Amino acid sequence: MRLKKLVKAEIKKNNIIIERKKFRSNVGRATYETRKIKIPIITDIESIYIILHEIGHIVKKHSNDIEKPLYLQETEAELFALSKFRDWNIHQRFPEDYELLKQRAQRYIRWNILFDIQRSLHESKSILRLKNIHIKALKFTKIQKFQKEQKNLIIQKNKNKNVKN
Ligand SMILES: [Zn+2]
Repeated sequence: MRLKKLVKAEIKKNNIIIERKKFRSNVGRATYETRKIKIPIITDIESIYIILHEIGHIVKKHSNDIEKPLYLQETEAELFALSKFRDWNIHQRFPEDYELLKQRAQRYIRWNILFDIQRSLHESKSILRLKNIHIKALKFTKIQKFQKEQKNLIIQKNKNKNVKN
C-alpha cells in the first residue's frame, strides 16, 4: 500500500517515535515532549487518519502545559490530518471516507468546544464564550450556522404561536 509508505515517511520526517505497544482499537495518543505517539495498526483509511491526527499534535507542539485550549489543539490536529489527506489526494481517491472522516471531525470539534465552555463555567478562571472561540474552529465546525438555524427555528415557532393566538 503506497499510503503506508507516505505515513512512515511523515513519521520519519518529523522525528516521531512510535511506541511499541500498539492500540488494538482505533485510538491514538501523542506526547510532544518526548515526540512519542501511540497509534493503531494501519488497516484502513480511518487508522491512517488517526495516525495523522497524532502527528498533527506533535507538529503543532501541543502539550498539557501550554495555554492553548484543548478544543483548539484538537482542531489543529484535525486540520493537519485533513490537509495531509488532501495532499495525498485521498479526498479524490476515497471521497466517501474523506467526507465521513471530515464530518466526524467537525462533530468532534463541536463537542470539544462545548466541553471547554462547560468546563470554564465550573473553573474559577474566566468563562469561555462562543464569541471567544478561535475563528479556525468556528469556521471548521460551522457552529455559528447551527446557532442561526436554531434561532430561526425558535422565531418560526413563535410566529406560528402568534398566528394561532
Ligand atoms: Zn487529539
